[in-house]
Amino acid sequence: MAERSLDAQVVVLRKTKLGESDLILHMMDASGSALEAIAKGARKPTSANSARLELFNSAQVSFARGKNLDIVRETRLLQSHEQILADPVRFATASVMAEAADGCIQPELEVPRLFPMTQVAFAAVDRSQEQQAPLLVAAYLLKLTGLLGMRPSLLTCAGCGEPLAGTAGGKMRFSYGDGGALCGECAQVLSTAPVSAAVLLRAGWLLGAAFEDILQASAGAEAWDVLQLAHQWFAHQTSLRLRSLPAFHSLCGCIQAPSGL
Ligand SMILES: [Zn+2]
Repeated sequence: MAERSLDAQVVVLRKTKLGESDLILHMMDASGSALEAIAKGARKPTSANSARLELFNSAQVSFARGKNLDIVRETRLLQSHEQILADPVRFATASVMAEAADGCIQPELEVPRLFPMTQVAFAAVDRSQEQQAPLLVAAYLLKLTGLLGMRPSLLTCAGCGEPLAGTAGGKMRFSYGDGGALCGECAQVLSTAPVSAAVLLRAGWLLGAAFEDILQASAGAEAWDVLQLAHQWFAHQTSLRLRSLPAFHSLCGCIQAPSGL
């Protein structure tokens, strides 16, 4: 029987060891679906594939059909991220993004725009400063839930759709189970948590902002609170626990401890 093969543009999200020298690559393809394949010999230092299939890289890969998993045949590097790999904070930042995407995507389930969004996010992490890390992660988590159809309502009431008129110092109400921010009336009948209007405004901006613009903006005093909101929203919607988040917090969270929402 002739060997079937397929090609895909991928971004590498996770690698697991297989046997003595092989890797299983956990990737996202251009449609936003999950793709797994074996990279034979990829843990040998001499392997050409090992550098091209480094974490967060984008590559054009051709696969041969394997018995259980497909096998990587040829790889052409499209985008690498040495600046992420060389810096612990950038690495921790991209790792949270990659774990979140890896946890949400499924084989043969398309998530339009997730692939380019993830490529742009990793490219932004390449050029990021340490203080921008929490906002970049928050933006990725918010945008990811949005693309998965679980976009939070941040600037209008999730209950009645009225625009929320919060003042920068004011407290607003937020519901992780009922769509996001709520006006005073809707908050009376739903279970909510308090959140500052500044955090909501910032999160709402992140949801729509380009990563390039986020890199240009100052981190702001509320960056860690925005990340906390984004993470709680993500966790509530997906039921996923991000194991890379504690490492991220201990690396850069010591700059400023998260205050209560
Ligand atoms: Zn309302």
